[in-house]
Amino acid sequence: MAEEVGLTVAAPVAVIMFGSPGSGKGTQSKLLVEWLGIPQISTGDMLRDHMRRGTVIGQSVRALMKSGTLVPDELVNRLVEERIAEPDCKRGFILDGYPRTTAQAKEMMRLLAGVGAEEVVIHLLVDYNIIISRMNGRRVCPKCGTLYNAVSRPPRVEGICDLDGDTLVIREDDREEVVRERLAQYEAQTRPVIEYFRDSGARLFDVDASKDRPEVVFGRIQEMLKSTVTVPGTVAQ
Ligand code: ADP
Repeated sequence: MAEEVGLTVAAPVAVIMFGSPGSGKGTQSKLLVEWLGIPQISTGDMLRDHMRRGTVIGQSVRALMKSGTLVPDELVNRLVEERIAEPDCKRGFILDGYPRTTAQAKEMMRLLAGVGAEEVVIHLLVDYNIIISRMNGRRVCPKCGTLYNAVSRPPRVEGICDLDGDTLVIREDDREEVVRERLAQYEAQTRPVIEYFRDSGARLFDVDASKDRPEVVFGRIQEMLKSTVTVPGTVAQ
């Protein structure tokens, strides 16, 4: 059930979850979905879904994703443009894993203006060594997408999803050499996007996401969001 967190306003909110692979974007996005009652838009999940369904898009990105390389900007821009036009995005949405390049960020600002959405960027800061150890222990449920971690978020029964009992798997691009490539791509292409956000005056919050449990990090995000945004269709408490 979505909590009621703000005054009723006209503008939809776009919460942009920004951070390195393994910074907890996906986990925090899922908590935000529950709290705000708006959908999570994960470009990584959308692309994996295309691969599973064997679509033309899926086939065109398979090799890139397997090696941890970013897929072309135009492709993800188009996926996001189509997705945010859907009716369930009317009150707002959470962008998880997008934008990842400055070109994508520029296009995103244009797309948000097009649907009248106000942006809030949540920048998750995590120490590099912690990222590496987190990604090594990462497992995912192939059915519902819930992420687990051997150290920080173990399932109740080892290797089994708490929610649907499916056997957890290591995502193909979580293998060590691919993780290294994903982190290199982040440093080269994605980190500069923060400067773009700062220069363009976007609302941006740095959140320490290094050591504390996901619920504690989420508490910080909630405080920040309560102080700045209201989600349409909700009532003040
Ligand atoms: P993570 O955030 O854990 O690195 P994702 O699931 O978000 O993983 O992304 C997995 C892969 O999907 C990336 O390594 C990249 O190949 C592709 N991808 C996802 N989002 C984008 C994007 N916005 N731009 C380019 N490539 C993307």
